[in-house]
Amino acid sequence: MLEIKNLHVSIGDRKILDGLTLTVHDGEVAAIMGPNGTGKSTLSYVISGREGYDVTDGEVLLNGENILELEPHERAAKGVFLAFQYPVEIPGVATMTFLKATMNAQRRLRGQEELQTPDFMKRVNEAAARLGVSKEMLRRPLNSGFSGGEKKRMDILQMTLLEPKLGILDETDSGLDIDALRIVSEGVNALRAKDRGFLVITHYQRLLDYIKPDTVHVMARGRILRSGGPELALELEESGYKDYIVEAA
Ligand code: ADP
Ligand code: MG
Ligand code: MG
Repeated sequence: MLEIKNLHVSIGDRKILDGLTLTVHDGEVAAIMGPNGTGKSTLSYVISGREGYDVTDGEVLLNGENILELEPHERAAKGVFLAFQYPVEIPGVATMTFLKATMNAQRRLRGQEELQTPDFMKRVNEAAARLGVSKEMLRRPLNSGFSGGEKKRMDILQMTLLEPKLGILDETDSGLDIDALRIVSEGVNALRAKDRGFLVITHYQRLLDYIKPDTVHVMARGRILRSGGPELALELEESGYKDYIVEAA
């Protein structure tokens, strides 16, 4: 479903990703773990199409199509969703209004009919109740005055409503208390589906107790250095990243 081949990315004259190759299959939850500053967030931004990154080589294929030439909103329409590490605040617009506009914009791009208000309300209310997002939060402007945990839950609410093909979670666990972590993880687990893949990027093993990955990849020095099953995350918890940080002689 997602095939990243030999990806090289620079910011200015600094090389960040250095020949990264990774495959995520339909229905798979792939965890990427690695030390700070290794390019994990860069990878998620490059997949979602954020500006400022210079792709000097390689491909990112979503269901066989190279998406690197597409604009961010076109990638979103194809089903790429990035849960932001630092979600944006949008002053002045009620969250509910924002969600409806976002959903319908995406549905238009996908050639689907726009949702009418009753249908939209039903979907939002059902997902919000499940994710512990209050009605009061939905009336407030997006993310303004939301706590860290509330922002994360709002992220997952958006992901739920947008029904992505590829969900990317970048450090979604940072700043979450245990209850919020559980709610967010259950929200993600509820979205697991055979035609949907996830990239779960995390520095810590803890999140993977809740979102159980099918595969675990160790990223360091701008590429994937090792891949394995869930046991690899437990091994990293024990050994840390020291073996991966230093370039092999
Ligand atoms: P990670 O998410 O694994 O901690 P990042 O992708 O955030 O790593 O960063 C990888 C490297 O790229 C770091 O050394 C970081 O300082 C650098 N970097 C990230 N964003 C920028 C930027 N906008 N300008 C310059 N350097 C950057
Ligand atoms: Mg970092
Ligand atoms: Mg990061």
